[in-house]
Amino acid sequence: KKPVIAIDGYSSTGKSSISKIIAEKLGLIHLDTGALYRGVTWFALQNCLNDNGTINLERLFSSFDQIELEFKNQNGELVLFLNHIDISKAIRSNEVSDNVSLVAKQKEVRDFLLESQRSLAEKGGIIMDGRDIGTVVLPNADFKFFLTASIDERTKRRYNELLTLGIEAEEQQVKQNLIERDKIDSEREIAPLRQAEDAIVIDNTDLTKKETIQAILNHIQK
Ligand code: C5P
Repeated sequence: KKPVIAIDGYSSTGKSSISKIIAEKLGLIHLDTGALYRGVTWFALQNCLNDNGTINLERLFSSFDQIELEFKNQNGELVLFLNHIDISKAIRSNEVSDNVSLVAKQKEVRDFLLESQRSLAEKGGIIMDGRDIGTVVLPNADFKFFLTASIDERTKRRYNELLTLGIEAEEQQVKQNLIERDKIDSEREIAPLRQAEDAIVIDNTDLTKKETIQAILNHIQK
C-alpha cells in the first residue's frame, strides 16, 4: 500500500512545492491544505464583509453550504476551483494572506474542512501539507515531517514566489505577514501549528529544495 505522508511547518518553508515534487516521484496525490483555508478566506472577502471591510465571521459560518471547493487536474497541475471559478492565483493575494489566519483559527472553519481532508487519505497514497496534518488531520500517517527555516530565508522565498506570480509586495510587508501568521497559527486554541511528537524535524535554512526533498526521501525509502 502506498504511504500517507504529513508535512507540516512554518509559513514559506517550501512545504507545498516540496510535497508536489515528492508526490510526482512516488506517484502520490498531493493536497495543499493551506489552499483550502485560503479558498474559504477568498470567499469571505468576496461575500461576507462588514461595512468597515472586516470579515463577518457569522455570515461566513452560515454560508458554508454555498462553498464548493474542488481541485481539478489541469495538465498535471492541481488547480483549485471555488464554485467552478479558478481561484488558484487569487488565493495568493496579499489580502488573502493578511486574513487567512484569522479565518483558519475558527473552529467552524476547521470543522468544515476536516472531513474532506481525512477522506482523501483513506485509500493511502497521499502527501498532505499544512499546519496540523500530523497532529490532527492524519495522526496515524506513515511518515510525518516538520519543516522550519530562518525568518529571513523564508521571507526571501515568499517574496520570490510572489514575484513569479506577478504579485507586488514589499519585502518588509512579506516578512511581517509571515511572522504574524506563524504567531496566530501557533497560538490558536484549535489545532495549533505544532510539530507532532513523532515528526522528523528538518531545518532547511541552508538546504536547497532538492536537498530537502532528498532528506525526506531518505527517511521514506529507508
Ligand atoms: O500553507 P499556507 O501558507 O498557504 O497556509 C495559509 C494559512 O492557512 C496558514 O497561515 C494557516 O493560518 C492556515 N492553515 C491552517 N492549517 C493547515 C494549513 C493552513 O490553519 N493545515
